[in-house]
Amino acid sequence: MPGFLGKLYREGRVYTEASLDHGISTTCGGHATILTGMPPGPIGIPGNTYIDENFNMRYCVDDLDDNYKVFGQDVNRSPNSMKASTFGEWLKQSYPDSRVFSVGGKDRATITMAGHKADGVFWYDAKNGYFTSSRFYTKELPVYVQRFNGQNPLIDGYLKDTPDTWIHGEGSYREDDYEGEVEALNRFSGHPLAKPAKSDDESNVFDQIYKSPVIDTQTLQLAKIIIEEEHLGGGEHPDLLILALSAIDLVGHQYGPRSAESEDTLDNIDHLLSEFVSDLERTLGKDNLLIVLTADHGVAELPEYASEMGTNNCPEQGRIAAWPLFLRALASTYWHFTGPFDRPSELIQFGGTGFSFSRDYIDREGLELSNVIETLHDSLSEIDIVRNVWTQKEILAGTNEESRLLRNSLSPKNSPDILLQLHESCVVTLGKGTTHGSIYHYDRDVPLMYYGWQIKPGHIAGKAHTVDIAPSLAEHIGLLTPQDLYGKPKRLRD
Ligand SMILES: [Zn+2]
Repeated sequence: MPGFLGKLYREGRVYTEASLDHGISTTCGGHATILTGMPPGPIGIPGNTYIDENFNMRYCVDDLDDNYKVFGQDVNRSPNSMKASTFGEWLKQSYPDSRVFSVGGKDRATITMAGHKADGVFWYDAKNGYFTSSRFYTKELPVYVQRFNGQNPLIDGYLKDTPDTWIHGEGSYREDDYEGEVEALNRFSGHPLAKPAKSDDESNVFDQIYKSPVIDTQTLQLAKIIIEEEHLGGGEHPDLLILALSAIDLVGHQYGPRSAESEDTLDNIDHLLSEFVSDLERTLGKDNLLIVLTADHGVAELPEYASEMGTNNCPEQGRIAAWPLFLRALASTYWHFTGPFDRPSELIQFGGTGFSFSRDYIDREGLELSNVIETLHDSLSEIDIVRNVWTQKEILAGTNEESRLLRNSLSPKNSPDILLQLHESCVVTLGKGTTHGSIYHYDRDVPLMYYGWQIKPGHIAGKAHTVDIAPSLAEHIGLLTPQDLYGKPKRLRD
């Protein structure tokens, strides 16, 4: 890579075997770990969604308090379900004049990394096509964000300049337009963003932007404005700027990790960061920057491509539809426990990472919780793509590495009663494309690179985890941290 990613790899401190130290590799938990120094489960983030005590589906950065409405939307957002403090909070504790800003494509990424005391947290609203925030952080959107939104600098400009055909440069990507890639965004070959047809409404364009490299371009444009307007890096003490570059995840979901589209997305990040960092080095001075790059998770190969490569280890070598699994769970529950006039969903719900049972229903009908759990456990265990069915008890009592990783994603109050672990390479999707979330290396392996202020360069082999980032950074710049952190500081200097 000719730009900043290549430079980071050559001149930075690179942990070559870095991974997540938790078993459920979803976005919310992955980001919550990076700057708290805690695994996601114990701090209340078992997945992107979960079933709460009242048997309602909840989003990880949702908040029941209507004081925390998002600008321009009828939803509430805050970091309140995350029961941990962040690096940004430790920074402000030591240096009250330090500023903390977070900007990116997704609310669950920017919020969980920023934490509770950030000065500004902004993410892209794919419905309305602008950057927004929650009233948890600010009474109104700063004027410079409103101005940026009003100009829509890239939405119009980019689409106007979009070529009719797109030719990828020399790359290492696999054959383009591979079977299994998502085609929903009526893209032309290899290009992740199509010109809107006349009939398209704007929201379709916004959704395309959200799922393309353009979201990263926009994120960094806004980040640049934040730096200028807030004079970041200009004070006596360190400031923190968090960037959540979401495109690689969204593009990965649609086209897979070896696609021309994924390579385009990385090229874009490489190029954008190159410009972004040289600007900062010029204005702040090379010795005044410390940069960390990592990820919240990886992504599984497209099942069709994995099959051709001979790396598909799923007993059913295709993609796995979710509905037969749900149907099986519902049928088994209905057959054994639900009253003839009740819907099985009154007793059982899928919360995103597994199945939860309603305690109310169980009490009302005089059922035995352990019996209900065991019955579903046995029924799901018979499915050939299922490698293991975990109850919370089994996760807590387990002695192998998988149970340890799952414990780090276990949130006793919010985790499901039954967790399904499929075999390696089994990709459950609603349609085409691919996903992540599993315990396997392709979903847990991530980059981890440090660069800049007093960082000792070099390539370091051996285990390294994202949960160690916050304590390592804190030690590096001399911050006090909470005492019971799970992550361990790694020495970043000589
Ligand atoms: Zn994702």
